[in-house]
Amino acid sequence: MIVTENKPLIQLCEILQGYAKVFLVGCGECATTCKTGGKDELEKFKKELEKMGKEILGMCVPKAPCVVLQTKRELEVYKEKISGADALLVFACGLGVQAVRELFPQDGLIVLPACNTLFGAVIDKKGNFYEKCSLCGECVLELTGGVCPVTVCSKGLLNGPCGGMNKGKCEVDTERDCAWVLIYRELEKQNKLDQLKKTNPARDYKKHAKPQRLILTR
Ligand code: SF4
Ligand code: SF4
Repeated sequence: MIVTENKPLIQLCEILQGYAKVFLVGCGECATTCKTGGKDELEKFKKELEKMGKEILGMCVPKAPCVVLQTKRELEVYKEKISGADALLVFACGLGVQAVRELFPQDGLIVLPACNTLFGAVIDKKGNFYEKCSLCGECVLELTGGVCPVTVCSKGLLNGPCGGMNKGKCEVDTERDCAWVLIYRELEKQNKLDQLKKTNPARDYKKHAKPQRLILTR
C-alpha cells in the first residue's frame, strides 16, 4: 500500500489561495487505511477549511482514485457540484491526484494535492507501516534471503555491508539493524551463505528510465 501524510493546514491554506469553492476527493483504499483520506478525515478537513472561509461544495471518497475509469463513474454523481468548484482537493497519494486530474483535462479544473506521498509499505500485525520495497524494477530478493537491500540498506547497497556497520547496526541510523546483517542471518537459515561469495551485478538503470509504463494487450 502507498503511505501518505496530510499536508499541514497552513500549507493547504497556501495551496488553496485564490480558490473559494472547493470539492474534496478522498481515497477508500490506502489513504483511508493511513487515516489521511477517508470519510472521517474529509469531514475533519471540511470543518477546518470552512473556518478558513472556504466553501466546501461536497465530498466523495472513491474506492480507489488511482483507477481512472472507476473513479470517473463514482464522481459522475457529483458532476454539478464539481463543475461549480474552483478546485478539487484530493486526499490521496500522488497517483490518485494525477488520476483525478486526468478526468477533467478539458475543463481546466484545478486539481490539488492534500497529502504528501511517502512510501510503499507492508502493514505489520500491529498496524504499523514499514517501507520494504522501492519498486526498483529488478527484484533481487531471491539472492538476499528475502530482505530488500535497495530499501532496507540506508545506502541501497547490492553488495554489503559497508565499512560503517557496527555490532550489527547501521552507521546511518544506529537504532536499526544493518540490512546486510539481516541478509546474512536469513541466508544462514536457508543454508545459502555461499551466495555472499558472489558479487551481485550493478543495477542497469537504463532499463528503468522513468516514467515506466505497462500496456496490457487484451
Ligand atoms: S529488490 Fe527491493 S526494491 Fe527492488 S523490487 Fe525487490 S523488493 Fe522491491
Ligand atoms: S551499515 Fe549496513 S544498512 Fe547501513 S548503510 Fe552500511 S550496509 Fe547499509
